[in-house]
Amino acid sequence: MDALVFDLDGTLLRLERAYRDVLADAIADVRGDAPDGWLAAYDDAFFAGFDAFEPAPVRRAFDRIDGCSDPEPYAAALLERELESLAPPANVHADLERLAESFELGVLTDGVRDWQLEKLRAHDLEPYVDAIVASYDVSAHKPALAPYRELEERLPADRYAMIGDSDADIEGARNAGWAAYRYDGGGFGELPEAIGER
Ligand SMILES: [Mg+2]
Repeated sequence: MDALVFDLDGTLLRLERAYRDVLADAIADVRGDAPDGWLAAYDDAFFAGFDAFEPAPVRRAFDRIDGCSDPEPYAAALLERELESLAPPANVHADLERLAESFELGVLTDGVRDWQLEKLRAHDLEPYVDAIVASYDVSAHKPALAPYRELEERLPADRYAMIGDSDADIEGARNAGWAAYRYDGGGFGELPEAIGER
């Protein structure tokens, strides 16, 4: 059987608001306001930690903001705000159910496994997925080969195709010898019936 492997952020789930607004709301949930200095400091600290595969990069980023004495409530608020701001494409459950008749289905996502699983569960997507690899599992973000090879280990299949919204998704898939389909919105009803059709 062949495998279809979906990116998560921007593909299976898309933010319906600017991320900066999501972050600002989370900070304001805890402290009542969202100073510009906090927003910039969070972004810098998060991406530095994320690129270095530091554990718990969200909590650590809040911890590095001057004036943040306890990162836990901020991390919890950000997860809650992210979950409520994400939405899947229309008919995603019906489309995945139909695709699952012909393909193994996987998710290959940049991020921390538990955080990404929360997103899948909040939108009832986990039951459709046979294997999930998060970049933190292998300490390498897309387009590195390691997460693609890890997905092949966890989800044996004859051929693989990646469906993702970013250059990294496509570049990594091609380097791994997979087919690649650019996701640019809409449903998954137009995906090919067999890998290699286009
Ligand atoms: Mg994406």
